Amino acid sequence: MEQAETIQFTMNDWLSNAGIVGLHNILANADLSPRENENVLSMDTTDLDDFAHYYFKFFLDQYQSLSSYAKIMAYQEKFNHWQQTDYEDFSAEDYADFKDYIQNTLKYYAKANSFKKIYPLVINHLDVIQATKELPKLINLTQKNNFKVKRPEIIELMKEISQQLKPIYDYFTAPDAKKYFPVLSTLYTVVNNTWTNISYFNRSNKEPDFYIAYEKTFVDPVREYLTIDHSKDKYHCSNCNRPVTKTDLSYTFLNDMGFDTARKTSNVWDFNNDLTICPICQLMYSCSSAGFNFIYGHGLFVNSNNNIDELISINRKINQEIWQSSDDKRQVTPYAAMIRTLTEQQLKDKEYVLDDVQVIEYENEHYRFNILPRNIVRLFKKDAASFNRLRGANYSLNGTRHYVYEEVADHVLNSQNLYLYVNQILKIYLSQPTAVFIQAEQVDALLKINHDFLEGMKN
Ligand SMILES: [Zn+2]
Repeated sequence: MEQAETIQFTMNDWLSNAGIVGLHNILANADLSPRENENVLSMDTTDLDDFAHYYFKFFLDQYQSLSSYAKIMAYQEKFNHWQQTDYEDFSAEDYADFKDYIQNTLKYYAKANSFKKIYPLVINHLDVIQATKELPKLINLTQKNNFKVKRPEIIELMKEISQQLKPIYDYFTAPDAKKYFPVLSTLYTVVNNTWTNISYFNRSNKEPDFYIAYEKTFVDPVREYLTIDHSKDKYHCSNCNRPVTKTDLSYTFLNDMGFDTARKTSNVWDFNNDLTICPICQLMYSCSSAGFNFIYGHGLFVNSNNNIDELISINRKINQEIWQSSDDKRQVTPYAAMIRTLTEQQLKDKEYVLDDVQVIEYENEHYRFNILPRNIVRLFKKDAASFNRLRGANYSLNGTRHYVYEEVADHVLNSQNLYLYVNQILKIYLSQPTAVFIQAEQVDALLKINHDFLEGMKN
């Protein structure tokens, strides 16, 4: 039994483990000190006091460079530069980009539903939607009235617009606005990847402040639970076995676990819906989005479950591979980051015992499970150079861009040879050469990986 001052979380299935890693990441990011001991993570109950803030601060710190807020504010800096240089280097391309920004970023987000919910919470009552509507009309360029001809007029217009944008930028940079807007896009691209339906994401939610909604749903019940005597409770949490009085909490808020309400009619759902959880596990599961590494909708969690230290450290290293590499983030995949982490780590030391590590991928609202066998890790290590060569190679098929590195890793992890895959790419190349961005040496790398893969299978 835990002491009243600490709450303990014990490693279990992969989603619990992702929750524990997420919880650790959230607390560590807030400079608090959760403690790991073998397969148990302990947090101080006093850390609950500001937990909602720690929770959203993690997602903000981790993902803000990709947020809609960063896109909105990008022009504040640019206008400073243009003013200082008197628009000396302002080009036709800058103007085209700016037109796109006004229409598809500033005006688009200003009237987004997620933004509309937050406006009433901000002290400054500037009507942002109206202010964006009142911006002067941008000049449309034609063959005759091209950028060169219209440049002086456009620059005067840009100066005027920069003045009118000031109050909008001031609005978004005020402290109370910064508490909400930068976090918003992470709510819908990261936070809700592992859970939804309740709290702020519930359709009937009336609480506009997501900090308060989170606190009410996830933190308050834990506080309440800890103050109540549970010696006469009739039920038990199906995850941690703590006694519970009521059965109103369940797994239904977790995505893609077969518990979603859309499957309400199935018998399986009815059965699973009976499983009850305690408020402490509910809090832990809400943190699983912080345990995965996500980038552009792809998520990955390595469930290396020897002990918590290893679990945290391997997922953190993948995180570093993703965010500290200088690569264009659009070309970074969690898969590639994992492979580099695993192979490089293997070269340096024997920190990780890589026997059959479970890897969970998230894409298009679904989880996919892979086992990473030892011989495959050996292949990644042996062909590290060939894998590296594949970075950047991509092709498009039916309007979707496919990245070769990730798909090759996927094949290898699923013990599928690459003949059909290479064949498919060549077919696309023959029918639509412009859809394929793969160089001859990258095809060579593919074939070398396939050769070594088949050799490895023999042994
Ligand atoms: Zn529990």
